[in-house]
Amino acid sequence: APKKYYEYLHSLNDRQREAACSDVAVPLMIVAGPGSGKTSTMVGRVLTLLKEGIPPSNILAMTFTTAAASEMRDRIGKVVGKAVAKEIAISTFHSFCLQLCRTHAEKLGRTSEFIIYGHGQQRRAVIEAERLLENDKRSGAEYTNDEDIKTSFKDKAKKWQKFIAQAKASGRTPEEYEKKGDLTGGSVLRHYNEILRSCNALDYHDFINSSITLLTKFPEVYKECQDMWQAIVVDEFQDTSAMQYCLLKILASHNHITIVGDEDQSIFSFNGADASGFDSFRRDFPNHKEIRLSKNYRSTRAIVEAATALIHNNTKRHHHKLVETDNPSGCKITVKECHSEDSQCAFVIDKIIETTSSSAEGRNFGNIAVLYRRQITGKAFQVAFRNRKIPFNIHGVAFYRKKVIKAIMAIVRTSLPDCDDGPWRQAFKALLPSDKEEKKKIIDHIEKIALARKCSFISAATDIFSAKVSGTFKRAQITQGRKVLSTLDSLSKFVEREQSVSVIISSAGDMLPQRYLLEKRAVVDVDNGKLLNEDSDIRSVLQFLMDDVSDFLSTHFSSSMERGKTEEKGCASTLQAFVDYISLREAENFRSRKEENKNSITLTTIHQSKGLEWDVVFIVQANDSEIPLLHEYNGTVKQSGSTLEEERRLFYVAMTRARKKLYILHVTVDSNRQLMQPSRFLREIPVHLLEVQEGEETIRKIPEQPSGDVPIDGPEGNTSIGKPIMEQNETSPYPELAQSCLANDFLRRFDIDDRSVVSHIFHQWGKK
Ligand code: ATP
Ligand code: MG
Repeated sequence: APKKYYEYLHSLNDRQREAACSDVAVPLMIVAGPGSGKTSTMVGRVLTLLKEGIPPSNILAMTFTTAAASEMRDRIGKVVGKAVAKEIAISTFHSFCLQLCRTHAEKLGRTSEFIIYGHGQQRRAVIEAERLLENDKRSGAEYTNDEDIKTSFKDKAKKWQKFIAQAKASGRTPEEYEKKGDLTGGSVLRHYNEILRSCNALDYHDFINSSITLLTKFPEVYKECQDMWQAIVVDEFQDTSAMQYCLLKILASHNHITIVGDEDQSIFSFNGADASGFDSFRRDFPNHKEIRLSKNYRSTRAIVEAATALIHNNTKRHHHKLVETDNPSGCKITVKECHSEDSQCAFVIDKIIETTSSSAEGRNFGNIAVLYRRQITGKAFQVAFRNRKIPFNIHGVAFYRKKVIKAIMAIVRTSLPDCDDGPWRQAFKALLPSDKEEKKKIIDHIEKIALARKCSFISAATDIFSAKVSGTFKRAQITQGRKVLSTLDSLSKFVEREQSVSVIISSAGDMLPQRYLLEKRAVVDVDNGKLLNEDSDIRSVLQFLMDDVSDFLSTHFSSSMERGKTEEKGCASTLQAFVDYISLREAENFRSRKEENKNSITLTTIHQSKGLEWDVVFIVQANDSEIPLLHEYNGTVKQSGSTLEEERRLFYVAMTRARKKLYILHVTVDSNRQLMQPSRFLREIPVHLLEVQEGEETIRKIPEQPSGDVPIDGPEGNTSIGKPIMEQNETSPYPELAQSCLANDFLRRFDIDDRSVVSHIFHQWGKK
């Protein structure tokens, strides 16, 4: 491998190489703009650590998403071989901390099978904590802050959930709130923590905080980690929260550390991240070495200049980085005004057809991405792409929050030891065939009995359906209930008999009733009458989940011998590990890369596009109030200076994902027929870098600056980007769009807001 190592170093520039090879004993900080090879240099750094003799299993590499982790593993594997790359702990903060908490669960007052509370379970715990608080109040305890009793129940739960998230992100304890005089806050937090403890659960925030507790309160844990993690490297450091930084500092106190980041790309402040981490690092590691990279290798000069001009409008920058590039200037950035969201879709599709040259193997869509501020904007593109049969991958879609996945995982969890009421309730909900009303009645009744007898949901259900308790149920309902019990029982028998994880997951999928198996796009969720996501065809969903099983097995068990063993034999602890794995992915909003087709357009939110790059990028719905997103969903305006700067950084991240061609689209009216303004950020881009398309209107609105006349070259290189290629055999791209316009009218008239319902109806009509 030394030869390959030197080859890799050779591919770096001098500054990058200096960083990668600098003394491993000295803490290293690499700060640089987008596309300057930070991640590439970080890979070089890991290779150097290996060359210096640090065993791969003693290296910890922190990345921000699981996608970035597997990307890094691939890149390292190319140089040192897959087997070595697999031994390196390349992990996100969340999965690293979860591992640590499981290993030392008893020190946290949990068992190692503790449950991970997701959003829904957290909400339930918050509501319960509030109820306990009300009890306290009734019993005479005094509270200072009573105004929120007036706010509605739902809003209150939401508010408290936010409060708890913030408390945990800043690592504050109930005592600290109480000391400050916020008795109500302290008490809700205390109750909430107690509920989680009594349910043997941790929530996502707890992983980080509890890991810090383990490291600071238990010297043996500290020692173990110090011995284990001899070197730590962190990518995307700007998005490290204060608590995560605290953890890093403890871990690295006697070990090697390298951090890599760009404060201008800090976009996760809502997660408690802020770029002040760089200053903390400078302070806490005074002997560190700092290296700046300044050359952008990713994008054309037009894109680099435009993005640089934009970010210069941020006043709260720590230092101004010089960003330059030797790349060709490329073509101008196209700004396009569209009259509606539909015509925005149509324009993107048009350009995609133009850009992708159709070769013998077909078109290549893999180098194109559509980026948007909010998930919802992606919906129309999904529908339009599907209609046009353009392949696409969606990043950051809440795949694991899909009803089907939730149902399968709940069923699976009931077969684990110490399963609490949540999964049992969900599994019953999924498996009972009855209609919504009837199902609710059955479940409510079970809960009532459980409450009265102070027993668990499942023991109440068992008693009811085995007729130990006289109930109000009809015979048919009893039969249904019994069937659910025996179905769930058969699954736990599988687990007892040590069936493999894949057998258990697919059996759970098979157990779901017929209504989950309905055709694509017509899947109506019987539970709430709402339409499920169009692509929740259970067969493909199940296939994705099976991909996750194999993904899991290959990362979870490092030696192939061990893997061979577990593939044929499962056990509760392996299944538990898989359940964790899925919970984590839910937290990280991540879909398996296996699902992704390389020859597909990427549809993603800007947040999820971090660190990635494509030849052609469309930023869509670049309207004021979208980006910058100025209104929170409850209507309050949040236009403080710092948020505006964060929104600008977000736009900066979006722009700098493009290698060769950038399109920025905005609409004049949104789907509610509201008039929309183009994003104010467009005005901050020098006008000579823009090619404003269609409509004097746009020109009137955007450039409020003297127009430059610096010439800019046309498209370059071997791509057809920017060159309109009309194809003879191309059918009109619009028939389906015409349909979807019709559909929109239909929707407006009937006040339905899901266009897939209507496209389904149209589809059915078409058949007739
Ligand atoms: P971001 O801030 O967006 O995460 P980054 O600084 O991590 O970007 P990389 O993703 O490492 O940048 O690199 C951007 C692109 O530039 C990649 O395609 C990479 O292969 C290429 N690149 C990096 N360094 C060099 C180099 N020395 N010579 C040629 N290409 C390079
Ligand atoms: Mg990077």
